Amino acid sequence: MNDLIRKLQTQRNLSDPELKTVLESDAFDDALFAAADAVRRSVYGTAVFVRGLIEFSNYCKNGCYYCGIRCENRSVQRYRLDADTILACCTEGYALGYRTFVLQSGEDPYFTDERICAIVERIRTRFPDCAITLSIGEKPRESYLAYYRAGANRFLLRHETADSTHYAALHPPALSAENRKRCLFDLKEIGYQVGSGFMVGSPFQTTENIVTDFRFLQRLDPDMIGVGPFIPAPDTPFADKSAGSLKLTLRIIAVLRLLFPHALLPATTALGTIAPDGRELGLRAGANVVMPNLSPADVREKYALYEGKICTGEESAQCRACLEARVRAAGYEIVTDVGNVRR
Ligand code: SAH
Repeated sequence: MNDLIRKLQTQRNLSDPELKTVLESDAFDDALFAAADAVRRSVYGTAVFVRGLIEFSNYCKNGCYYCGIRCENRSVQRYRLDADTILACCTEGYALGYRTFVLQSGEDPYFTDERICAIVERIRTRFPDCAITLSIGEKPRESYLAYYRAGANRFLLRHETADSTHYAALHPPALSAENRKRCLFDLKEIGYQVGSGFMVGSPFQTTENIVTDFRFLQRLDPDMIGVGPFIPAPDTPFADKSAGSLKLTLRIIAVLRLLFPHALLPATTALGTIAPDGRELGLRAGANVVMPNLSPADVREKYALYEGKICTGEESAQCRACLEARVRAAGYEIVTDVGNVRR
């Protein structure tokens, strides 16, 4: 059985049925995680990159069935941060050693291209040595180009699932897998460092879907791949669905490390939410990025994509200290660095 893992490690690929075998059995796990950690160490050593996450608006015009801040959810208290508050979050993050700021939000029409560009320009001027990452959803190509010219240089947009039928089961008819993929290729072509990814254990997901996700990612060749378990959110159509599993998430992180030795793979907040040591286990399965929360403490609970999200009661400095200890306990080291992909 370890032959399969050795093959995956040396060829950086497997056939569809082989990938399915690895994903569906726990017999490979020990060899798989050891190989993933060895590959991660050969490319990144023990370095773990940090990205400070600023959740600047939970308004959203979309109705994704899984998401807690979907437009139809009337129980959400909506908020927006103004430009000064966003800048203040960056200043705090800079002092904590963060050199990447991730601005994430729902698809909020208030934040026109003009407003986004103005915010990006201010951050770019004040923090010329930092990466500015946007995670604000699907936009026309011209908008992505405008943000890029304003100084944004990375973009996170998970493809969610590469299978159109599965995509349609997770999203309202106005959204399509095709448009989401178009966005990703536009972003890449413009010159962004792109992050994509998907939820593990989202409703109706099959092992075949996950293999399709791997194949799509091989085509896209993103710099970052974010995977985390689906976690049900109250007051959404999927409130009663079950969460994705820790085991499968770890297995997928490890397979991704072997398929994409150079990729940036975050140990996500969702992973830390389904298990107290989820992020540490993620790091040991091949992840090399953590994304501590930099949002003002009083809005964190309102950015509830799913139930039980961790780190909502903490100040940014506490988040930093806690993560530092966790990363060290797992056997790695947080580095103060812009944290570029090493290709
Ligand atoms: N509006 C932006 C940001 C979305 S939130 C965009 O469209 O890209 C960031 C990610 O959180 C999503 O891409 C999704 O994969 C994840 N997410 C949303 N709801 C979730 C849930 N219930 N459980 C786990 N992850 C979820």
